Amino acid sequence: MDAYEQIKNTLGPLRVLENEPLSKHTYFKIGGPARLFFEAKNVEDLKLAIATAFEQKVSYVVLGGGANVLVSDKGFDGLVIKNRAAEIKLVGVKGTIDKNGRGIKNALVWSASGTPMNQLARFTIDQGLEGLEFLLSVPGTVGGGIKINAHYEVEKGEFLGDRLVSAALFNPQDSEVRTVQKEYFEFSYDQSKIQQTGEIVLEAIFRLDTSKDPAGLWQRAMDNVKRRNEEQPIGVACSGCTFRNISREDAIRLATPNLTTSTGYIIEKLGLKGTTMGGAQISTHHANFILNTGDATAADVIKLIRIVKQKAKEVYDLDLKEEIFYVGNFD
Ligand SMILES: Cc1cc2nc3c(=O)[nH]c(=O)nc-3n(C[C@H](O)[C@H](O)[C@H](O)COP(=O)(O)OP(=O)(O)OC[C@H]3O[C@@H](n4cnc5c(N)ncnc54)[C@H](O)[C@@H]3O)c2cc1C
Repeated sequence: MDAYEQIKNTLGPLRVLENEPLSKHTYFKIGGPARLFFEAKNVEDLKLAIATAFEQKVSYVVLGGGANVLVSDKGFDGLVIKNRAAEIKLVGVKGTIDKNGRGIKNALVWSASGTPMNQLARFTIDQGLEGLEFLLSVPGTVGGGIKINAHYEVEKGEFLGDRLVSAALFNPQDSEVRTVQKEYFEFSYDQSKIQQTGEIVLEAIFRLDTSKDPAGLWQRAMDNVKRRNEEQPIGVACSGCTFRNISREDAIRLATPNLTTSTGYIIEKLGLKGTTMGGAQISTHHANFILNTGDATAADVIKLIRIVKQKAKEVYDLDLKEEIFYVGNFD
């Protein structure tokens, strides 16, 4: 029996799909077929799927919401594990609770890594806990969010990683699961160590403060959503921001207005808004978004990415780096 048959047998032949189009599983609505495709419904499923691929020496990739990936038109020649392990629990409170339920200073919230960040935001806001309300309506899962250190307004310093206490990680080098503390991730803007190690987040614990104004939490979260809806293109397939923002040093060197580090601003100044390749277009609304206007291929998106990088280098001596992650072969 070959390695692919072994994987199907271990995970359940009826649960493993063959040649599943990945365009169905990405916000970009782009991507060729996965040789094998499996939906992990809980953390045990996720662990088993990764460990099985590891044992069988078959390449694998974990997809969360598919909100920050560009998948090759050729798809993925291995096992794609769609992480639907979604669960949240309040696991600890600090402080003395009086008979009216007041007095909690902060709380620990456990989450499976496939939990949508939007769901985590809703849960914590409902509990009167503050610190993750900026995630309301941000697409993607907790695992994908930890990998990129999800944020809303960078200037406000609101990052998912700031609230992390610890996480259980699967290490692809030795197939071991270990629990690490927040410091391990070396979080910064759009950065976490697991981008280099390739470790997979299985579950995570966050510490959140009790809000002094629980009613205001929803209001603040909804204000963010409103602003996001004004700033970003709505209702068109895309993967959010394509590029990471520029460094502060580059913003100073280029004397950007108010020293903005926005790459959207840079792309706009390069005159690239609205540039089109096949079915892909640089948004006229927010220049750091590349849109799939209907029938875009990954190749179309790559062409636009190359144009932006080349022009940014020529005109401003900038080395732009993608925020999105590539899945599959792009030769
Ligand atoms: C319309 C739109 C708006 C957006 N706005 C924001 C925003 O305001 N702020 C923001 O921060 N982001 C934003 N994003 C980007 C996106 O929401 C985040 O990057 C999010 O963290 C992606 O999570 P995901 O689960 O979809 O990851 P995926 O796209 O599925 O995967 C991204 C990468 O993470 C890896 N990965 C997935 N799960 C795990 C795991 N459990 N362990 C380890 N690695 C894993 C994948 O292999 C891949 O390399 C936006 C995206 C869209 C489409």
